[in-house]
Amino acid sequence: MRLFLALIPPPALRERLGELADAAHSRCGGRRTPDENLHLTLAFLGKVSEERAAALVDWMHGLAVPPGKWQLDAWGHFRGPGIVWVGGSRPDPALQRLHETLWDRLEAHGIPGRPSRYVPHITLLRRAGRLDADGLPAPALAWRYNRLELIHSINNGQDVRYTPLARSQAT
Ligand code: NAP
Repeated sequence: MRLFLALIPPPALRERLGELADAAHSRCGGRRTPDENLHLTLAFLGKVSEERAAALVDWMHGLAVPPGKWQLDAWGHFRGPGIVWVGGSRPDPALQRLHETLWDRLEAHGIPGRPSRYVPHITLLRRAGRLDADGLPAPALAWRYNRLELIHSINNGQDVRYTPLARSQAT
């Protein structure tokens, strides 16, 4: 099972992100992330056995994530895969801490793959052209979060569906 840990935007924020995605898409083309797939990945686990996934579900049910607020105020671009994203213009210490803490626990569960660098971002477009943010609306969004989801990513060759397996406790 292909799994990742993510924050899911509340509906109003998802709508705003969708508007930014539309604006970027009309400029850069590519494949726009469907609204229902918009998310912030905290940790990408990759392929995990069903047995280990069941243990992670139990862990998630007991997990409490410190509430936080992430300021989304920048466009970004990963050139290789042509990803256009929105995120923060400067590092967010709370998200970085959360990422590190989660990886400490994931490694204790025997999950490998901790990346050397974490760039929090919300992917809006894939396989897009070069990003030129001139003329695009400047992102100015605040995301208040307090819950994390463990998500199963299922790719059927045409599209990708994300199925939540567990949520952390509300804090
Ligand atoms: P995914 O590969 O399962 O990724 C889920 C999340 O984990 C994304 O946030 C992704 O970040 C992150 N991630 C994936 N690999 C990672 C790695 N090695 N290190 C760190 N983070 C990683 O699902 P997906 O990204 O939605 O789509 C997978 C493939 O299917 C892509 O090639 C995509 O073009 C194709 N596809 C996607 C959709 C869609 O609606 N999402 C539709 C059709 C086809 P990023 O967002 O930065 O990638």
